[in-house]
Amino acid sequence: MRATTPAFVLRRVRWSESSLILTLLSLDFGRISGIAKGALRPKSQYYGQLEMFSCTEISLSRREGRELDTVTGAVALNHNEGIRRDPLAFAFACLFAEWVLATVTHDNEPVRSVFLLFGEVMNRLAGDDAPWSVICAGIERLLRFTGHGIETGTCTRCGREAGKCPEWDPLSGGVVCDKCLSNEQNISPGLLEYLRKAGSREFNEVVKTRLWPGGFRQCHDLMREFAETRLEHRMSLKSLSVVEDIENADRG
Ligand SMILES: [Zn+2]
Repeated sequence: MRATTPAFVLRRVRWSESSLILTLLSLDFGRISGIAKGALRPKSQYYGQLEMFSCTEISLSRREGRELDTVTGAVALNHNEGIRRDPLAFAFACLFAEWVLATVTHDNEPVRSVFLLFGEVMNRLAGDDAPWSVICAGIERLLRFTGHGIETGTCTRCGREAGKCPEWDPLSGGVVCDKCLSNEQNISPGLLEYLRKAGSREFNEVVKTRLWPGGFRQCHDLMREFAETRLEHRMSLKSLSVVEDIENADRG
């Protein structure tokens, strides 16, 4: 079957002398993998069209039951150069891509909402918004869109209103009311308020939210622990240390 779809390049792995194996987040087929033969040759039709995080109109030859498609054409729709020009924006984009790769599997139904979210996050990372706030707003939505949403309103044990100072239990999916007290963990009131806002407001508004210094990092780590509990696997998030290195260098 031949197909064409817009797709973001999430991962590029060199395969053989001149070919690439790509992991793509596509509008029409969700997460797919494709081999682009000869893509690394300077005169290749793919040259400059399949850079990290660019949004590309990609043509594929797909075969039922095969994990790896063959790329037959690629024309970049949006190069997202702003991301690749700025090391910190690039590191954050890598971090978000790692989150997408951890939560979106090949078996997922086409996830248009995740595709659109990815584009939005890339635009904002290339712009003036604070990157940690973009990342946290993006991850909160990503978890919801992939079926791992954080419950912040009703008790995950009994379904009653969880109240102002609930407990926190990633295993049951979020907050726990005081009637179902379980001596689990607490969640900081500030993070709970942020997550409630993130779950109910427009992305644009959530991105503009400010937290205390280090608050978004705490929020990221809370969502990471939540996701790892729900997904039952650790996420390596290698880009996180790159983000930290760049931030520390900027501070020093
Ligand atoms: Zn309860």
